[in-house]
Amino acid sequence: MKIKKNDKVTIQTGKDKGKQGVVEKVYPKQNTILVTGLNLYKKHVRKSEQMPKGGIVEVPRPLNISKVGVVCPHCKKTVRIGYQIEAGKKSRICKKCKSII
Ligand SMILES: [Zn+2]
Repeated sequence: MKIKKNDKVTIQTGKDKGKQGVVEKVYPKQNTILVTGLNLYKKHVRKSEQMPKGGIVEVPRPLNISKVGVVCPHCKKTVRIGYQIEAGKKSRICKKCKSII
């Protein structure tokens, strides 16, 4: 997984195209991520103690990682990520500005 929790990402396809958000969760097996406040869908909920009237809540739905691009914290652009191995340690690097993400 090239994307990690707390990465800033840009959505590159779908109804939220162009929007940015922060990765809240990653699901490596499914190759999906959950981005706070994005890719929301409306879910009908039944009456419960927390929601005595029931109703509709907006829940973020996981996105496939192929639909997002990571925003480099250094050059502030949506970039491709590469890897660099130095002293046996693997780091992610921004392919544009070459800094470690
Ligand atoms: Zn960069």
